[in-house]
Amino acid sequence: MSYITGDQVEAIKWTDDVNEWYCARVVDTLNKTTDGEPLVFVHYEGWPPDEADWISPTLVRPRTKHSPLRFGPRGQESDQSWKDYATFCSTQAGLRIRQHTGLVHDRRMVLHCCPCHSRETVHPERPDRIASILQTLHNQRLLRYLRRIHAREATLEELLLVHTPTHVRNYFPMDSEKHASLITNEPPRPSPQRMTSIAAILNHPSSPPPSPSRQTRPRHGSIVGPTRGVGGGVVVQADQDHIEQQHRRFSNAAASADASQSDPAPISPPDLVCKMTCGELGIAVDTTFHPLFSSLSARVAVGALLQLVDHIVQGHLRNGFALIRPPGHHAEDDNAMGFCFFNNVAVSVLSVLQKYPSTMKKVLIVDWDVHHGNGTQKIFYDNPNVLYISLHRWDRGQFYPFSGAPDECGEGAGLGRNVNIAFSGSQEKPKPMGDTEFIAAFYHILIPIARQFSPDMIFVSAGFDAAEGHPDNLGGYKVTPRGFALMTRMVKDLAEELCDGRLVLTLEGGYALEPLADAAAASVAQLLPAEVTPPLQFAQSLNAIKLNQGAVESLRQVAEIHSKYWELPSHLLSSSFRFHLPAEWRARDGLSTRPRRDKKARNVLVAEGY
Ligand SMILES: [Zn+2]
Ligand SMILES: [Zn+2]
Repeated sequence: MSYITGDQVEAIKWTDDVNEWYCARVVDTLNKTTDGEPLVFVHYEGWPPDEADWISPTLVRPRTKHSPLRFGPRGQESDQSWKDYATFCSTQAGLRIRQHTGLVHDRRMVLHCCPCHSRETVHPERPDRIASILQTLHNQRLLRYLRRIHAREATLEELLLVHTPTHVRNYFPMDSEKHASLITNEPPRPSPQRMTSIAAILNHPSSPPPSPSRQTRPRHGSIVGPTRGVGGGVVVQADQDHIEQQHRRFSNAAASADASQSDPAPISPPDLVCKMTCGELGIAVDTTFHPLFSSLSARVAVGALLQLVDHIVQGHLRNGFALIRPPGHHAEDDNAMGFCFFNNVAVSVLSVLQKYPSTMKKVLIVDWDVHHGNGTQKIFYDNPNVLYISLHRWDRGQFYPFSGAPDECGEGAGLGRNVNIAFSGSQEKPKPMGDTEFIAAFYHILIPIARQFSPDMIFVSAGFDAAEGHPDNLGGYKVTPRGFALMTRMVKDLAEELCDGRLVLTLEGGYALEPLADAAAASVAQLLPAEVTPPLQFAQSLNAIKLNQGAVESLRQVAEIHSKYWELPSHLLSSSFRFHLPAEWRARDGLSTRPRRDKKARNVLVAEGY
């Protein structure tokens, strides 16, 4: 393969007219994937950055002089900017910088959407989320510093590390021929609980009947089949006619689909029985599901994170960001909910512990999504090797997913290894939490506990729905991009101090596109090597160093509960301690928390290279 970074070529585009060649730029090349095939990562000129893709060299050709080049709707891009990119990549500094922070994304994750395509009802967890983050990274000229990682699908064995065979069967269409080599002679277990054999999953007689009105379960504080969804919607069960009609619709669609589609067989999990506001069927109130594509997207989301994590553990990269969807932290071992099907982080953590037993013995998961990660908590509740620390809006059990109480601390050997920093507004005057409250939770509680645990790697379930700009039912908090940058800096410093920098951030929630993209880009920027990281100091970085009353009461309760399991400074337990941050962290003058931005810039499409 003779393509060089920055080259202007022609390439077949993945969607639309498959026979048309478009002008493209070579961003990166891969001599050998896990399948042994070479790949080229191309950016299609004049198209948004989320359309860039890893493709086979057979779909790339040198540009031909005689025929005119076809550009995307944004037109031709600056040749000089691509030359700059190529020069940067060939310098010693460029080579070094691009071995530091990885970014994984894959177009197959865009396929997961509601069959209504959000034409009238906008579903919060939608493909635009990824597009907006990539566009912002592009606008801020950060993509050039990131090593693009090629994703793959998670395997059956990997999913079974966390999920029950029944759950995996429901969301992973089984083709017994395809998996014939994996079938063993082991008889299926009558009621499989956790990971069993491949045979069990292939031969298990039938899936359990749908039960959308399952009730709150007190164990682990987790819930199965919530009666309210992420945004507060209430379960409406579809009638049998509706369910059968939908199944026929997708069976017909699949029959007429191009045979080259990798996943044409529709799947219909037993929980796909809720009627959503758009009229389509969904899972657990508001979790969209496409019978043809969602399963593939969910498997690629897990596989993408697994690939990135391998690069980090093997030392090819220091840290990384997994730009993946569907998210994972609400998915329990046996239950899909809250926009999540497979628990991306949980599968990757158990995979790392199993694959690298001599070096990876303990993992810390930090979860700063505004919602409690009920799935992650449940999966690791009795596991002493995984410390789960979640910061979330709890409101005394009134906020989705209604679990995550501060006294849910783990059980058995995992007792104390589940830390719920559960925020509730004060009874008299509830105020939303913001930068000061989240940073104080890190400073006073998360960091001291993480140091004592001393992990070999840090995972962050990085949801950005605590970002300012989310409606009350999807977040309602006020963390700014600077707040997310500071939190990222704190976990990065922790990773450098404790585990050779091994750190991975994974996208979970975040639904208001601009706040999501600004917050995610601010976090990604802090992962980069110091020479290209935007300057960020803790001194004079916050508008306030005093927390609101609700946060003081919330943190005090967490400190009291966890002083049984961890050594916390005694002043944290004093009734007069108010969890202030260091005085020098307060800005002397008012600090703008909005990202600096030319008012018109949002509407100007960047026609520049990386
Ligand atoms: Zn819909
Ligand atoms: Zn969330």
